[in-house]
Amino acid sequence: MLPYYYSYNEYMTERFGEKVYKLSLDAGLTCPNRDGTKGTGGCIFCSAGGSGDFSERHIDDISLQIERAKKQVGKKYSGDKFVAYFQSYTNTYGDIDYLCKIFSDAINNENIVALSIGTRPDCLGKDVIELLGELNKIKPVFVELGLQTVHAETAKLINRCYELSDYDEAVRKLKEIGVNVVVHVILGLPHETEDMMLGTVDYAVKSGADGIKLHLLHVLKGTALEKMYLDGGFDVLTEDEYIALVIKCLKHIPKNVVVHRVTGDAPKKLLVAPLWSADKKEVLNRLNREIRKK
Ligand code: SF4
Repeated sequence: MLPYYYSYNEYMTERFGEKVYKLSLDAGLTCPNRDGTKGTGGCIFCSAGGSGDFSERHIDDISLQIERAKKQVGKKYSGDKFVAYFQSYTNTYGDIDYLCKIFSDAINNENIVALSIGTRPDCLGKDVIELLGELNKIKPVFVELGLQTVHAETAKLINRCYELSDYDEAVRKLKEIGVNVVVHVILGLPHETEDMMLGTVDYAVKSGADGIKLHLLHVLKGTALEKMYLDGGFDVLTEDEYIALVIKCLKHIPKNVVVHRVTGDAPKKLLVAPLWSADKKEVLNRLNREIRKK
């Protein structure tokens, strides 16, 4: 069966009447898995940029960051509707007044149609949930949770430092306030079988998430994962394996769940493996060709 999927572009165009572009912003925050609160060193795949190596360089003023980012994307996008995307590190891990200020600055910008906030499930305290609920009354809020895997042994190996029950609880709280929940899954984590990865996708879609991002595991310079890889601790996926796997995953995702991504971006200067993934356009073209063949 052809694995139809409801793409993010399709969903956003339907919702906002035209293509909408994401502006990556930097809230200047850190992560409890780096500062010792939950763990140290971070998740083993996470680069020094906190999984947001394409974000705007941190400057305090969010409005200024938005203007700079708009100029950047202006070369390839002529519309005027944008999503403010807080991507790097853990964007609900900070003083509540500060979070309120940066998110309000973004959501009140006339060109911003929605907020997208990347965070950890264990960083959604009562005050944060209340704030997100209020923001969601102004414009749509998407909260992106880095689940990566549902398998405890892999979660331990990648040093995720939160439990699956934290994820379940986060989804429950976010759904209660009506925000859009997007779950991140990584394909190709060390020692995971195809069944394990499909099990994670199944869990994610059944958890109540509204959207899903499928990422290829990238080995980046300077990470603990790089050391493990260079020591021969695991193999990365080949392009053929990845394409076949994504197609299987898409067959497990119901049509009401929006597929925000079918692969990730890795900064070329940091990418150690798999090098075939550097040509993202070609990977996407190949994936689409393979889907049409099915
Ligand atoms: S929780 Fe996110 S920002 Fe923190 S170490 Fe893991 S991937 Fe990086």
